[in-house]
Amino acid sequence: MYVCGPTVYSNVHLGNVRTFMSFDMVFRYLQHLGYKVRYVRNITDAGHLENDADEGEDRISKKARIEEIEPMEVVQRYTVDFHETLEKYNFLPPSIEPTATGHIVEQIEMIKEIMEKGLAYEVNGSVYFDVLKYNEDGHNYGILSGRKMEDAIHNTRALDGQSDKKNPQDFALWKKADERHIMRWPSPWSDGFPGWHLECSVMSTKYLGEQFDIHGGGMDLKFPHHECEIAQSQTCSGHKPVNYWMHANMLLLNSQKMAKSTGNFVLPNEILTGENNILSKAFAPSVVRFFNMQAHYRSILDFSSDALEASEKGYFKLMDAVNSLQNIQTSKTSSVDISSWKQQCYDAMNDDFNTPILIAHLFEAVKIINQLKEQKGKISVDDLAEFAKTINAFVFDILGLTNETKQNSSDKIDGVVELLIKLRKEARDNKDWALSDQIRDELLALGIQLKDGREGTTFSIN
Ligand code: AMP
Ligand code: ZN
Repeated sequence: MYVCGPTVYSNVHLGNVRTFMSFDMVFRYLQHLGYKVRYVRNITDAGHLENDADEGEDRISKKARIEEIEPMEVVQRYTVDFHETLEKYNFLPPSIEPTATGHIVEQIEMIKEIMEKGLAYEVNGSVYFDVLKYNEDGHNYGILSGRKMEDAIHNTRALDGQSDKKNPQDFALWKKADERHIMRWPSPWSDGFPGWHLECSVMSTKYLGEQFDIHGGGMDLKFPHHECEIAQSQTCSGHKPVNYWMHANMLLLNSQKMAKSTGNFVLPNEILTGENNILSKAFAPSVVRFFNMQAHYRSILDFSSDALEASEKGYFKLMDAVNSLQNIQTSKTSSVDISSWKQQCYDAMNDDFNTPILIAHLFEAVKIINQLKEQKGKISVDDLAEFAKTINAFVFDILGLTNETKQNSSDKIDGVVELLIKLRKEARDNKDWALSDQIRDELLALGIQLKDGREGTTFSIN
């Protein structure tokens, strides 16, 4: 499986995380089924220009210029941020994480190959893929996105005749660097840099072969990025590169796509601290994961604080049930059909990774657990073992949730203070005034003030 990774010129936002989380789930499920998966997710550290259409400044160069640091410092900073973020959200690392700058030689080789096949041309030190010629040769540029040739225009400047391209549908394989452009490499055509689409064709072929199973990315990459990847790879190998294209749909905020460029975004870290004015409070990473998994990866998903709060309730309900599995008493026979429930879970996941349906079945399991706890049903030892194993596999291994019943540290403190209030009441009931005062005074010294009232004792934390 190959998944297009981040362009490391800024912190990843929650929309990016949603896409990567969908593929983390796919990776987890395929491994659970017993597949040996090689999961390649690249880092784009060169070649991604400002407007996705071969124009404008390189995103990383631009950031480096503004901040007056080296481009590779930008790359390092945001690659580290990306890894730290994914770790907090309990991602599995991919098998290989190759970079565009680590594969310049291979990219130059692929350009040469495309030129030899007659499908690329050089103008003023830049090389472009000839989309019209590709189609004349019997291929179908637009096969993935369903775009017609006349709609598949890449270059806005081409419309006013300033482009080197023969046709506005063509896209850059190599760009000559102008004097401002810091990130540059020597090539047969110019000192320059590879086009953005090329790295993924090169790295997917290098690590997964000319034909591989799954290629993923966000829906917004379908065109032009993935369409161009197909054209490049198909030209070199002579066959279609990918068996299954999977596109994760967009995370929305205020009914608009979450995006860095428009300022309409939430950072994954802000969710963990609650430091964003659209959030009512902080949320645990597993709550965010659960929120994402409650939607199918192909559906758009609206982010809001209310939606996260609803997911939090559901998540804790699920965790409470999971944690109480060990307290269930077994019987000689079962009144519940665990194997058909289990099959429904697999059916949901086997139907294009339908996590919302899976979660509905997990809530069925919650219902069953609660009934068993109240002894309104029976379960045998073997069935309980199978039930617990299946629930744990889906909840932790496949959805990637972690068990954070009282994850929120403020919840933990609240729980501890409530416990001390209870112990203090017991001390007072026993007329142990020394202990009761000690609890009150030591809490006060920690900035936690107890207030005794008619309804009992409350507290405030300064
Ligand atoms: P980028 O770093 O811009 O190349 O994006 C990294 C990944 O995040 C790509 O697969 C994008 O399609 C995806 N992505 C960007 N914005 C969103 C969003 N709002 N919701 C879901 N995925 C997104
Ligand atoms: Zn890509």
